[in-house]
Amino acid sequence: MVTDPSCIFCKVIAGELPSSRIYEDDRTIAFMDINPGSHGHALVIPRSHATDLHSIDADDLAAVTATAQKVAGLAVEHLGADGVNLLNCAGADAWQTVFHFHMHVIPRYAGQPEKDPLVLPWQPAPGDPDRIAQAAAAYRGEGADA
Ligand code: 5GP
Ligand code: ZN
Repeated sequence: MVTDPSCIFCKVIAGELPSSRIYEDDRTIAFMDINPGSHGHALVIPRSHATDLHSIDADDLAAVTATAQKVAGLAVEHLGADGVNLLNCAGADAWQTVFHFHMHVIPRYAGQPEKDPLVLPWQPAPGDPDRIAQAAAAYRGEGADA
């Protein structure tokens, strides 16, 4: 089990910082986010410290995902959510601010802006097919992206 004494989520795990826990098992802990984006916004973390998506152990990632699925189900069953978003931010440029891997579980409520003021952060519009194919080729290692 890896611990980083300077990490606030490791301090939450150790009980050195308070948290409203909602679920825990041998690999993961779920607790409430103190700056909720919607009513019931929760975080799921691995007990073992990993900075982000790129460095988390694959078994811990699977365990976090399974816990996020449980918490999402509880959001629907117990909080009356109409839907749920899962969000992970990998890197400061992708909005990550706490560098201990975490999955956001964000309950969504139809027509209740006081519980759920969230909007889609991009404008869906058809992309340039050449640019899409170029990115796909770059994923496959078949050419540099630009
Ligand atoms: P990120 O921006 O890294 O994806 O998400 C970090 C989340 O952790 C934010 O939503 C933020 O509100 C939450 N957070 C930051 N500090 C604390 C804390 O001390 N306790 C709890 N429960 N949540 C925190
Ligand atoms: Zn940590």
